[in-house]
Amino acid sequence: MNDHLIHFSNRNVLFEDLKHFLDKHQQAGEKLAIVLVNIDHFRRLNTVFGYQVGDELLEAFAHRLDHISRDKDYIARMGNSEFLLVLPQIMNAGHATLAAHKILNSLTEPFILNDTEHKISVHIGISIYPEDADSVSELIQKAEVALISARNSASTFAVYSEENKQQDVYAWDMEGDLDTAIENEEFELYYQPQISLQTGIVFGAEALIRWKSKERGYVRPDIFIGIAEQSGQIDAITWWTVNRALREIMEWPKAWRPLKVAVNISAKILKDVAFVDSIKSALNIWGVSAEQLILEITESTLMEDTTASIITLEELKALGVGISIDDFGTGYSSMAYFKNIPANELKIDQSFIFYMLKNDMDQHVVNTIIELAHGFNLKVVAEGVENQETYEALKQLGCDVAQGFYLAQPMPQAEFIEWLQNYKIQH
Ligand code: C2E
Ligand code: CA
Ligand code: CA
Repeated sequence: MNDHLIHFSNRNVLFEDLKHFLDKHQQAGEKLAIVLVNIDHFRRLNTVFGYQVGDELLEAFAHRLDHISRDKDYIARMGNSEFLLVLPQIMNAGHATLAAHKILNSLTEPFILNDTEHKISVHIGISIYPEDADSVSELIQKAEVALISARNSASTFAVYSEENKQQDVYAWDMEGDLDTAIENEEFELYYQPQISLQTGIVFGAEALIRWKSKERGYVRPDIFIGIAEQSGQIDAITWWTVNRALREIMEWPKAWRPLKVAVNISAKILKDVAFVDSIKSALNIWGVSAEQLILEITESTLMEDTTASIITLEELKALGVGISIDDFGTGYSSMAYFKNIPANELKIDQSFIFYMLKNDMDQHVVNTIIELAHGFNLKVVAEGVENQETYEALKQLGCDVAQGFYLAQPMPQAEFIEWLQNYKIQH
């Protein structure tokens, strides 16, 4: 075994070191592959089993990577749960995918961490020098783009390709295109039904934004929301979303009313002093009662700035608007935070729901969140419900609302209306 793993706490130092490595091989006219390996649900592992287990996993994982690498390969730890390999002297992209297969094979054996067996999965993104780029930062960016594309498709790894260009946020003036997207009506809301578990009736739907860019085709919210948050364009997008959702809820068939619509809000916008008034006037304009609107805010972004946000949330709650804490369980909330949180609803993060039937610890976390939440008078929503067994288990645990592919995919307004008209109560 060749012990050549490099640990970097600082990205700049890593980039410098990598640059030297690349320079050396570039001069020799070699082809190189950049392989990014990201461990799935690493945050969940930390939350459920503790940081010590997380650290042990990183060490054991690094060991395995080291074991399957050649002496000349470069291995470094990149982010929280990400490793970078640079493979010199490859003939073509096929060689790099061979390396990806080797990595995946090395994970078939479970890891023994703190006396417990853990199976882990990863996603891998690959870029090739000189085809895809010739600088370190660009090569890593392209490998990241490939990794995102692997994650969005059903595959575990992807090599950067022409098709990825559509998703390549780095080579794209996305801000410029976002500016015109609202004017050109390139956004649309899709609705994903939510079902009351104990009664089987429709509770409402979550509004999920879709961008059909004329230039780039369909762009995922994961990709453009983050950019819009940084550029400040998120404000315009949020108001478009709130208004569209309030307009469209009034078109939903009366049979299942009163239905609720849940809109995703970036925590940043809560700092806007006019936020509550703007919500009030939007409700007035469309004639929707405050009780029908739920605002979803992710736990992690809320925790970045609590004081300003909490005052705004309290005002909204007083108005009757529902407040839901999204992706709950991944933000390391303490009990004290739980007590003061001005919310009516917790949405358990999908990663716990996906594994709850296979993993006792996940089921335990789900159960604990439900019990705690009920103790504080909070409703609990489970999202990412993909099969009937999970649906039944959640019902047994006393969970209030379910959402997920088992019930329905997110769909455009017209299709959602049809879905509502045909919905039969689940037993
Ligand atoms: P989120 O709020 O956690 O939304 C849930 C995501 O999980 C949605 O992805 C949904 O399509 C997907 N999903 C639902 N059920 C299942 C299931 O059973 N299995 C699996 N594997 N996935 C499921 P989507 O629509 O791509 O949205 C991604 C994220 O983008 C959202 O995560 C949210 O954070 C953000 N987003 C979406 N619309 C908006 C918006 O209007 N405003 C803001 N600020 N963010 C938005
Ligand atoms: Ca959400
Ligand atoms: Ca979520």
